[in-house]
Order: sequence, then structure tokens, then C-alpha cells
Amino acid sequence: MSEPDIRAKLGLRPVINCSGTMTSLGASIVVPHAVETIAAILTQWTELSDLQRIASRTIARLTGAEAGCVTASCSAAITLACAAAMTGKDLAAIERLPDSTGLKNEIVVQTGHLVSYGAPVDQGIRLSGAKLVPVGQATSAHAYQLAGAITENTAAAVYVVSHHVVDYGQIPLTTFCKIAHEKGVPVIVDAASEYDLKRFLEAGADLVLYSGHKFLGGPTSGIIAGKKDLVVACYLQNRGVGRGMKIGKEGMAGVIAALEAWETRDHSAIRAREQKALDLWKATLEGREGIAPVIVPDPTDNPLDRLQIWVDPERANISAWDLADRLGKGERPVIVRDHEAEHGYFYLDPCNLHPDEEFIVAERLVEELDAARRSNEPIVSDFAGRLLAQEQAILNWPD
Ligand SMILES: *Cc1c(COP(=O)(O)O)cnc(C)c1O
Repeated sequence: MSEPDIRAKLGLRPVINCSGTMTSLGASIVVPHAVETIAAILTQWTELSDLQRIASRTIARLTGAEAGCVTASCSAAITLACAAAMTGKDLAAIERLPDSTGLKNEIVVQTGHLVSYGAPVDQGIRLSGAKLVPVGQATSAHAYQLAGAITENTAAAVYVVSHHVVDYGQIPLTTFCKIAHEKGVPVIVDAASEYDLKRFLEAGADLVLYSGHKFLGGPTSGIIAGKKDLVVACYLQNRGVGRGMKIGKEGMAGVIAALEAWETRDHSAIRAREQKALDLWKATLEGREGIAPVIVPDPTDNPLDRLQIWVDPERANISAWDLADRLGKGERPVIVRDHEAEHGYFYLDPCNLHPDEEFIVAERLVEELDAARRSNEPIVSDFAGRLLAQEQAILNWPD
């Protein structure tokens, strides 16, 4: 990096992100075109309805949707989309939310999709004033259960695409759309973290929601794309529950720029760079006692591989979660993807690295594994205790 690192000046740790597009780490490296556009708009007056109109056209071009709008986040988009499905363009109803008395106000979702992305999906739905109706059980949902859950009070059906959701036993999106549409119910797809901007609309979704700050590399923002009347109803929520979720001119202009940059991004060059990092890490770890590195594809078919690192505590002298924790400490903290560490592995995600950071990551792996090998005691902490300590740490902020 040629410019001095702002983080040192602010007193922040120089974390290297190998965990993915995590909100808690700043969401993404914003692409240069968006950075320049944001800087340029910040000091100008502009008519926000025009900026949203341009966003609508840009979103429509990239997604194939009739229209689109932007909001504060994908989480906000979930709430706005559910609100829109209940109120339509009824301005009085929009002002009355979250009181949804007298409106169709039930939202059906498969139980296996009721996950947390940092906050519960179901809360994003309920914030609109809608009533949540779960469909099926955690690991099994059937078409007949969806059909049976839809009543004359159903406003929409929500479908979540994520590595967090249960990945078997769920209703495929095309079937989900077919059943909902037979009953006149629109389908809202939460595709926050997906690369493919067309596939879900093509599969029949009426509204698709994306994060602007994940793979797109925009500022913190949410994108709504889909049927025009529903998009308009989402936009109108800015006069109601959406006001507190508003996006400013910088976010709107920034996400438009990020979408433009996405159109011309050299995806295969990026893929090749990521592959080089994966190969380096794999070669670094291969042959190490108790360590098994495996390159694995993304679980929701995004064009992205990760390195899954299996850690045998008996032979490596350290557990997967202790290795993850230690990598995240020190002067060169590397934050890894460790949400499945209890199974004895974690992942390295190469999609958010600055140039040459992959070498630091390789050095850090060697450093911590060598230190573990030298330790007289096995470094294997109690996993249940780790979970409780993490819960406690949440409450300890700001100390
Ligand atoms: C990240 C994520 C969200 C929330 O997106 P934000 O834009 O950060 O609010 C919602 N749903 C899923 C599946 C996600 O992965």
C-alpha cells in the first residue's frame, strides 16, 4: 500500500480479512470508482428522488428487473420489502406501520431459512409490522406445507439464499415461486451475499434484495430489484418505517458507481488472483503434521473458492478454534472464517485481500503452527467456554 494506513492514525488494529465480506470488519474494500464518486457528491446538493431514479435504471440494467431502489442495507431491504407487500402504495397505511391492522400481514418463510446474519432474518420481517408464519421444520419443508401456510392474509413469501440456511430438505426456489404465485402471493428473495444479479428474478422472484457492500464493493447499502409496483411501494416506505433506514446521497451515488464498476470488472483476473492465494496457503500447509488443507467451492455457488483447514488437535498440538483465535491476535492479526470451528476446521477466504497480504497470511500460519508445536502443553481450550467468553465479550463493549 502506497498511502499511509489510516488505521494506525485512528488507533485501530491492522486486521487482514480472511473471513469474507463481514459487516463487523467493515463489509468490503470499496471499489475506486465508488470512492471517487462518493467524495465528489458529498459536498453537492442533489435531488434524492433523481438519484434514486438513476439507481433504478442502473439496477434494472444489471439485474433485468423492471425497477429498483437503494436503501441503508439488505437488512433494511427485508423490512421495506415486507412493508411494501402489505401496504402497496397506500400512503396512509405506510404511515400507520408497524400497525398492520386491516392489511394482509402474514409473511411465510421456511423454518430452515430463519437464520441470523448478525441479526435474525425474522426480526427484519417483524420490524415492518408483519406477522411471521414459519413453514415446515428446520431440516424439512415441503411444497404442501407452503401451500397450506398461505391464507387470504398472506402478504408475501420470503426466501433466503445464504450459507447460513439449512442446505438440504428445503423447497427449491422455482417450486417456492410456483406455489406462491398460484395463490397470488409475491416472492421476496434475500440474496444479500450473492454474485448473480439475474438468476433469482429469472427463477420467478418478484423482489430480490442484495447488499451493496458485499461482493459489489459499494458503500454500506442495500439494493432492491424487481416488479415495478412493489419497488415503488418499497421506495414509498421512506415516508414511514423506512425513514430510519434511509440511505444518503453518498450511499446512493456510491452504490450506483459500484454497480457500474461491476459491469466492467475483470472477474476472471480476480478469480486468478484469489486462486494464487489459495495455492500459496495450501502449499504452505501441506505436509504439516495434523493439518489438512482442502480447497472447497462456495456453498451457494458464488464463483469463489476457500481454503478449508482441518486441524487435528492431537497431531498439530492445537485445536482449530485456538489456531483461529491466535491468528487473530498480535501485530499482524488475521481474521479467519471460523463459524464452524467446532467441527475441527476453519476457512481462509481470499476475496478481501489487499495485494501481497496473502504472504503475510502464510507467514502467520507458519508462525502460529510452529509456536504450537514448541508448546509443552497441547493448546486445546474448552470450546463451550470459548462460546460463553464470546457472549460475555459482546456485553463488555466499550471497555
Ligand atoms: C449480510 C446478510 C444480510 C444483511 O445484509 P446487510 O446489507 O449487511 O444488512 C441479510 N441476509 C443475508 C443472507 C446476509 O448474508
